[in-house]
Amino acid sequence: MTDAAELLGLTRKLLAAYPPATTDRADFLKARFDAGLAWVHFPEGLGGLGAPRSLQAVVDAELAAAGAPDNDPRRIGIGLGMAAPTILKYGSQEVKERFLRPLWTGEEVWCQLFSEPGAGSDLAALGTRAVRDEATGDWVVDGQKVWTSSAHVARWAILIARTDPDLPKHRGITYFVCDMTDPGVEVRPLRQITGEAEFNEVFLTGVRIPDAHRLGEVGEGWKVAQTTLNNERVAIGGMRLPREGGMIGPIARTWRERPELRTHDLHQRLLTLWVEAEVSRLAGERLRQQLVVGQPGPEGSAMKLAFARLNQEISGLEVELRGEEGLLYDDWTMRRPELVDFTGRDAGYRYLRSKGNSIEGGTTEVLLNIVAERVLGLPAEPRNDKDVAWKDLAR
Ligand SMILES: Cc1cc2nc3c(=O)[nH]c(=O)nc-3n(C[C@H](O)[C@H](O)[C@H](O)COP(=O)(O)OP(=O)(O)OC[C@H]3O[C@@H](n4cnc5c(N)ncnc54)[C@H](O)[C@@H]3O)c2cc1C
Repeated sequence: MTDAAELLGLTRKLLAAYPPATTDRADFLKARFDAGLAWVHFPEGLGGLGAPRSLQAVVDAELAAAGAPDNDPRRIGIGLGMAAPTILKYGSQEVKERFLRPLWTGEEVWCQLFSEPGAGSDLAALGTRAVRDEATGDWVVDGQKVWTSSAHVARWAILIARTDPDLPKHRGITYFVCDMTDPGVEVRPLRQITGEAEFNEVFLTGVRIPDAHRLGEVGEGWKVAQTTLNNERVAIGGMRLPREGGMIGPIARTWRERPELRTHDLHQRLLTLWVEAEVSRLAGERLRQQLVVGQPGPEGSAMKLAFARLNQEISGLEVELRGEEGLLYDDWTMRRPELVDFTGRDAGYRYLRSKGNSIEGGTTEVLLNIVAERVLGLPAEPRNDKDVAWKDLAR
């Protein structure tokens, strides 16, 4: 088994062969992947060495100290956080070899074609159809997706579509990798409360997907999607941050630098939120340690809940602290950002952007249901559509 000393040796070898100061960024990242130092717990040949996940920190620290470039996880969050674990678990060897390297290096950006106008929280109600072309074996996809973050820069998408409308909603879904350059894919910007268009509507018309790009069995897409969704919550709620690295950072700095804004009441509230932010950050560390020995479970939902609530409370307090100045908005220019920057820009941006935190990756209400049912063991919500064919459901 690969141990810390061995990994450190391999990392130093990589740095000697590709000195960061004189090596092109993309070349360095490709060499790092090929050396198995991208995600050390992945199998050999796929960017890893089958090492314990906890040892990634050893590699990361050594590379950071040497000034090596990283793959900017914020820009490729959907690929790294959601597509990769799903491909690893359900993709064929060819699929893994084709997709994981450019995904990790950031040469190819991914998006997630899950939500639809009539299928958000009730995702299993989705109506996008995938029909098998018996002559070629391909799947032909028609439908509309919505709120698709990064679709405007994505090369590939993870997609769930209905392959059997005669089955109950959870059972007739199949999971695919969709080529965003297919001529049947149309991406239209959706402008958000922040003024920018970080997500999109995506229209799919006769999009062809080879059967080799199916992940999991036909009709098993809901099960495959659970891998994606559980990882999504951890990716959103469990990001590794230094102390004061999240929303609490900018307000703490303002508090230190602007004594004239301080009041006793704000002081008490800021202290409470600072402690909660720190507790949440440390709970995230704990969650990552748990991941070393298994897949994310419902605990990830609790992290995502804490992340959303804290971001909204902290950014609200920051606007209050800044008074009238907090109401100014830096720039309403329509833009199509390539990365989501929760803490970037001004207080007004943070306040508005954090509103989406309790919706994206599963709404707070739905995640509370998950915690109630799967962590606390409370009775499940009544479901009267479990055994009804999807085509017979009221819409
Ligand atoms: C910034 C942002 C980025 C996003 N990016 C993506 C993306 O890249 N890809 C993608 O596929 N989707 C994306 N989404 C979509 C997101 O996952 C959905 O918006 C979300 O799942 C909610 O679905 P909905 O909008 O249809 O709301 P609905 O499901 O219609 O919910 C409306 C309200 O009803 C509540 N509700 C619904 N069901 C229940 C219940 N059973 N019990 C209690 N309350 C309930 C909800 O919590 C919510 O408050 C993004 C959303 C946002 C805001």
